[in-house]
Amino acid sequence: MIPARILVASSNQKKLAELRTLFADLPTEVVGPEAPLPEVVEDAETFVGNAEKKAIEIAAHTGMATIADDSGLEVDALDGAPGVRSARFAEDAGRAPEPSKDAANNALLLERLTGSRERSARFRCVLVLALPDGTVLETTDGTVEGQILEAPRGDGGFGYDPLFLPEGETRTMAELTAEEKAALSHRGRAARAMHARLAAE
Ligand code: IMP
Repeated sequence: MIPARILVASSNQKKLAELRTLFADLPTEVVGPEAPLPEVVEDAETFVGNAEKKAIEIAAHTGMATIADDSGLEVDALDGAPGVRSARFAEDAGRAPEPSKDAANNALLLERLTGSRERSARFRCVLVLALPDGTVLETTDGTVEGQILEAPRGDGGFGYDPLFLPEGETRTMAELTAEEKAALSHRGRAARAMHARLAAE
């Protein structure tokens, strides 16, 4: 049984709109939070661990079936870092978020890869749908393989997008339109996998 309503545990309007559009043909209403959600500490060692924690805590708090995600960038030459610490990569290294958090993260990534010829990396996203009683109904994931460039290109997207060249593409993730990015991104893939699972229910 698909829950009649699913809460997306994110204040990011773009994530909400993407899932709402993608799930439009399902017999479920996709909604965003009505009030600010409690902060969930993302201290698990895996994307699945963090996404489960967030989905279960928010579902218990709101009494609604909840989808939560966790995502990040794994760089092979850095043994998979920044991984689950992607959002806090520069902060963990004691760097100021200047001129922005994303810029500080990207600058540190380039610094750590200085002189490295191995530039392979992937974005990974895990989505978890949990119920208020703590049951995990569905878990899906999506990845996109690519390379880390030596300098940023493009101003679309967010995070590490300007440095990430998806496999088979000539444009960075930040040079794609939102639709093009969703078609190949880790988040788009995880969301379409979740849609397929729910459609099969
Ligand atoms: P979160 O899962 O939304 O908390 O994202 C974790 C972090 O991973 C973000 O702050 C970004 O640094 C990075 N990240 C996740 N998805 C993307 C993406 O699509 N493009 C660029 N960076 C991303």
